[in-house]
Amino acid sequence: MYGKLKEHLQKELNEIQEAGLYKSERIIASPQKAEITLNTGQKVLNFCANNYLGLSDHPKLKEAAHEALNSHGFGMSSVRFICGTQDLHKTLEAKIANFFGTEDTILYAAAFDANGGVFEPLFSEEDAIISDSLNHASIIDGVRLCKAKRYRYANADMGDLEKQLQLAQEQRFRIIVTDGVFSMDGNVAPMDKINELAKKYDALVMVDECHSAGVVGETGRGVTELFNIRGEVDIITGTLGKAFGGAIGGFTTGRKEIIELLRQRSRPYLFSNSLPPVVVNAGIKMFDMMDQTNELQDKLHANTAYFMEKMTAAGFDIKPTKSAICAVMLYDAPLSQKMAAMLLEEGIYVIGFYYPVVPKGQARIRVQLSAGHETEHLDKAIAAFTKVGKALKVI
Ligand SMILES: *Cc1c(COP(=O)(O)O)cnc(C)c1O
Repeated sequence: MYGKLKEHLQKELNEIQEAGLYKSERIIASPQKAEITLNTGQKVLNFCANNYLGLSDHPKLKEAAHEALNSHGFGMSSVRFICGTQDLHKTLEAKIANFFGTEDTILYAAAFDANGGVFEPLFSEEDAIISDSLNHASIIDGVRLCKAKRYRYANADMGDLEKQLQLAQEQRFRIIVTDGVFSMDGNVAPMDKINELAKKYDALVMVDECHSAGVVGETGRGVTELFNIRGEVDIITGTLGKAFGGAIGGFTTGRKEIIELLRQRSRPYLFSNSLPPVVVNAGIKMFDMMDQTNELQDKLHANTAYFMEKMTAAGFDIKPTKSAICAVMLYDAPLSQKMAAMLLEEGIYVIGFYYPVVPKGQARIRVQLSAGHETEHLDKAIAAFTKVGKALKVI
């Protein structure tokens, strides 16, 4: 039998190659940080990690991981409700709730699971999920697993959201679902307006803070801080895999009864392994650090402002951003690939994105800033962008 499938798969793989959509993986031979070494021996500055706070290789988090390895062991070999809950898991859940100003938190193996497991236990045929068109794949999959009626509104378009809310008035419960920061443009969901519309049309609000938690808002509390609606959003999902240390792990945090029901019914929680103590303890340490100081947020915000200003002054077309994502617009797909390749030769690791990841004619290079970057790193990147940009007649 496999012969036939093999032929079919080879054909699909060839089509992906021919369409120029084949994703190959560059191999890193060092820890994840601002300066990394590739397996080719080339040292490059990394501007494409979600390592927003520079915590992926932070000594304090590594120390916390070592401590937990000694005190709590390596693996849990269980789901949470059988024998997979340690004191550390409860502590981390409480710290996350404290960070977001929510009532309770439930941990998952990843934010993909948090989003995959949040809708189905809470909503049914009688309900409505109203989702931003650019929401993350994990939200889309989570919504698919749920029988609620689906509505979609154009990205951050409040007129369209209002229209969808009107259409959904017959349903028993309504929930508006949005990413906090959209990963391709770096734009922020207008949470103040979403919240107003939710009140007007009697809807719940859920925000996925994966790209915004730790990053957005003066103290990094995310979009609810930025829009001054802390504690008002019903459900927040997030990841420990981006700004918060970058290892692995996701969470849903919010209203007490919602979290309690998820512990009873959410399938990725009930039927998947518990997070390992090294990851959990490093997470605890990380939230303690966040409580003590905004140093990393300050540095990240300063780095982002600096980079945006210098790149704009150099003549680049940069999308406005309130996040640490900076889209350098090129509009031409082959150009985005050529430019990223030339930047790598200059020691700057960035990725060019084009259709279907972004709309047709909207190709760009996405730069992700980090508190792990020093000014000299930023200057080196800006100089390389300028050199390559001139050579390719982008500026
Ligand atoms: C990265 C991301 C996820 C997935 O997070 P993981 O913890 O890596 O599974 C979910 N939602 C959004 C918006 C993301 O950016």
